[in-house]
Amino acid sequence: MTGKVYLIGAGPGDPELLTLKALKIIREADVILFDELIGEELRELLKRECKAELIDVGKRCGKHKMKQEEINALMVKLAKEGKIVVRLKGGDPFIFGRGGEEIEVLAENGIKFEIIPGITSAIAVPAYAGIPITHRRCDPAVVFITGRQERERLNWKALAELNATIVILMGVSNLENIVKKLLENGKNPKTPVAIIERGCTPQQRVVISDLENVVDVAKKEGVRAPAVIVIGDVVKVREKVKDFLENTKSRKAGRI
Ligand code: SAH
Repeated sequence: MTGKVYLIGAGPGDPELLTLKALKIIREADVILFDELIGEELRELLKRECKAELIDVGKRCGKHKMKQEEINALMVKLAKEGKIVVRLKGGDPFIFGRGGEEIEVLAENGIKFEIIPGITSAIAVPAYAGIPITHRRCDPAVVFITGRQERERLNWKALAELNATIVILMGVSNLENIVKKLLENGKNPKTPVAIIERGCTPQQRVVISDLENVVDVAKKEGVRAPAVIVIGDVVKVREKVKDFLENTKSRKAGRI
C-alpha cells in the first residue's frame, strides 16, 4: 500500500515553536526528510527522540546540496514503498518554502498528503526581536518579499509607494540591490530597517539601521544569512521594549 507524506513546518529555529500536531506526526513517522533551516537544536532533538530514519536533504556535502528534483523523487519513492514520510521544512512550508511545488509533485504521482503549517520566520523572527510586524500606529499592511531571483518580477515602484511594512526573506546577499530599488522608486531614506540574523535561536543578532545606511552597516557588521530584514516604522518599537524582552534569554527545550 502507498504511504503518505506530511509536509510539516518546523518553525523558525526554537524547537518549542513546533506545533503539537507536528510533534505527534514526527513521533509516528518512518522517515523524516529535513532541511538545514529547521535549526540545530531541533535536529539534535530529532536524533535523540525519533524512531524515524533521518535524512538531511539540506546538507551541503562539499558543494553538493540535494536538488529539489532529487528531494521530490525521494519523497515519492519512499511513499510508494508504503512509508509514513515527513517532509520537515523551516518555518512554514508555503512561505517561500517550495511546499507548493512539492505537493504538486505528490498529487501528480497519486500520493496522499497532509500539510501541517508552521510558524514562519517572516513573523516570528521579528517578534522574537521585539518587532511587531503590524502596529496600529504604523503602516496598515505587510508585504513579504524574497530577495531571490523572483524579485525581478516585482513591481518595485508600487512596493516603494505602498504604505506597508516590508519583510524580506533570503535578502542578505542582495541587500544592496533591494535597497537601491526601493530608494530609486521613492521610499523614504530614513525608513528604519532591522536585520535579524539567526532569529529565534540563542545566536540571534539584531542590527538596526535605516534605508540609506543599512548597506554599509550590514557590511561593517558582517551580517550573514539566514536573516529576516524588516523595513518600516515598526522597527522603532524594539527600541522602546527591548530592555524587557526575554525571548532569547530562553531555556533549552530539553525534551519535546
Ligand atoms: N519557509 C520558511 C522560509 C524559507 S526561505 C519560513 O516560513 O520561515 C529561507 C529564509 O527564511 C532565510 O533566507 C531567511 O531569510 C529566513 N529565515 C528562516 N529561518 C530564519 C531564522 N531562524 N532567522 C532568520 N531568518 C530566517
